[in-house]
Amino acid sequence: MNSQEIPGLYIHTPFCRSKCFYCDFYSVASRAEIPAWLEAVRAEMKLYKEEFPAFDSLYLGGGTPSVLEERDLAALLESILQNFAFGADPEMTMEANPESLSPEKLKTLRDFGLNRISLGVQSLEDSDLKYLGRAHSAGQALRAFEACRSAGFSNVSVDLIYGLETQSLKSWKKTLDTILELRPEHISCYQLTFEKGTALWKKKEAGRVRSIGEKMEAAFFLWTSRYLQRRGYCHYEVSNFAAGREFLCRHNRKYWRHVPYLGLGPSAHSLAVVPQPRRWWNVKSVREYCRLLGEGKAPVAGWEFLSREQFDLETFDLALRTDEGLDMAALKDYPQSQRVLAQWQKSGLVRLSEGRVRPTRRGFLVADSLAVMLAG
Ligand code: SF4
Repeated sequence: MNSQEIPGLYIHTPFCRSKCFYCDFYSVASRAEIPAWLEAVRAEMKLYKEEFPAFDSLYLGGGTPSVLEERDLAALLESILQNFAFGADPEMTMEANPESLSPEKLKTLRDFGLNRISLGVQSLEDSDLKYLGRAHSAGQALRAFEACRSAGFSNVSVDLIYGLETQSLKSWKKTLDTILELRPEHISCYQLTFEKGTALWKKKEAGRVRSIGEKMEAAFFLWTSRYLQRRGYCHYEVSNFAAGREFLCRHNRKYWRHVPYLGLGPSAHSLAVVPQPRRWWNVKSVREYCRLLGEGKAPVAGWEFLSREQFDLETFDLALRTDEGLDMAALKDYPQSQRVLAQWQKSGLVRLSEGRVRPTRRGFLVADSLAVMLAG
């Protein structure tokens, strides 16, 4: 448990220009409620400023925070900085989509000290972008990346998606090669999933689209990992690559290491670890969120204390998704884990070094099922 480390602050901006076909994040394809949300999120900050006075990372996520106009971005950032303190060298990220990013917005972000952009590119093939229901073209994505550089952002992450039936290994390589020419400091490569209830899932149910199958997904994953590592990126989490260890995403690493975090905004999750691990999450409705805060109430939909077993299982699960792996000492109360580890080692899924269990590339591929087996 990492109670000594400085927490991270996440703010959920639940607005998008349109809804992407694969998306199951909470967001609405309308900007009408932005003023009410902004007022509410500023009220929510006040509820937590005593409990969480300081952070060393800020992550404006969504949704699409870049749909906010400059004046709204400025008002949001001003409130954040008024209510919370950030250390001497914070990591401050905003997620952005190419169709809604502008040089003026980027300047506003820089003026408030933001130093990292996570850009939703997904693919540089327009046919893939159409398949995904994205609101931008490949050309817009490239121009948005250049705009980030021109605005002075020297830490830019690019989000990509692989495993689409419209994509071949050759066209995926073409996207990656163009991205690599830009030398982003960080690249996230997510495998396409068909989440229940999304437009893409409905199309799949109706037989209009299909998954490429587990075998091809594994081939894409392994090839991508090898390719990016050969080009100097460290594969530090199942879906994440960094151009150097100094570019690992500080904020997201808190989630993977059980460092406390505060999430504000509709549907945001939070974690406190003392005196006992506790998680809570906000209502998944902008209207309800605004109503509750308007009445001076916390917009919390639910919360739970994490039992020791639950906490351990999560620790194993999260740690085995990263190249830092799991401290073997955490397994002392799980004697059967030694037998499981020996098997995994033999199968090439993990290696044991410096007292830690570290997943191999093939281990990353099955990371989701490893933790349960360790806990027995
Ligand atoms: S832009 Fe992001 S959050 Fe919005 S609908 Fe698309 S994937 Fe979802």
